Amino acid sequence: MDSRKIIKAIIGAGIVLLFSCSPTRKNSMSPTFAANPVVAHRGAFKKNSFPENSIASLKEAIRLGCTGSEFDVRMTADDSLIINHDPHFNKLEIERASYAELGQYKLSNGEKLPTLREYLLAGLDGNKLTRLVLEIKPSGIGKERGKLIAERSVALVKELNAAPMTVYISFDYDILKRIVELDPKASTQYLNGDKSPAQLKADRIDGADYHFTVFKKNPGWIEQAKKNKIILNAWTVNDAATMDWLLANGFDFITTNEPELLFERAKLSPIISGN
Ligand code: MG
Repeated sequence: MDSRKIIKAIIGAGIVLLFSCSPTRKNSMSPTFAANPVVAHRGAFKKNSFPENSIASLKEAIRLGCTGSEFDVRMTADDSLIINHDPHFNKLEIERASYAELGQYKLSNGEKLPTLREYLLAGLDGNKLTRLVLEIKPSGIGKERGKLIAERSVALVKELNAAPMTVYISFDYDILKRIVELDPKASTQYLNGDKSPAQLKADRIDGADYHFTVFKKNPGWIEQAKKNKIILNAWTVNDAATMDWLLANGFDFITTNEPELLFERAKLSPIISGN
């Protein structure tokens, strides 16, 4: 073998090694996310007094390098997907109002009420490290409408090529099961805290994203999740002591209104979480 061939062989082996070293994931096209457990709840809003669920709070979570930024999706009466936590926006019931009616009002920083399309596009722009944690709120009108919100959300995520960046979460188990039917590679986490990790695995749900007190009451679920390769996430954790407890227990993610504090606690923790 001449020297050029040897160099080519070394480069080839290096490339194979580089790709074989990336952590195992569901989708080989998945990006490499920030290696920290910090999920900003409704974006990183608090320190800068941004509105919750605003594009400003999403951009701040990305700027901080959070591994995820969470937001809430609802659907208007005329089937527009929009970002808002509460069922009402400026006294209008979102599910009973049109997008045009809702759009008369701005967020407190002057932003317009974001659509899911606008929010995803903002979250994809220049972002390689922060997961887009998309919560689908159950519909107050009925279960079927909740599933319709899931279907429309999955279709939009696919259209925008956002699937590798997206994690779906919901309190409604049927919404998550519908998402898995529509996209078996979709990353999903359940919020309501009433299913064991073994049950989640049986239903092909990837993660237990429960209120932290659920794990305190059922400490066996932490080991059960690890054995079943179920992702561990806890909400909404805003104090150092609880953050430290979750970090010591090797939680993959912690959802918080205080991402800056969680970064500090994670640095002090001997266990490296994330991914
Ligand atoms: Mg939420």
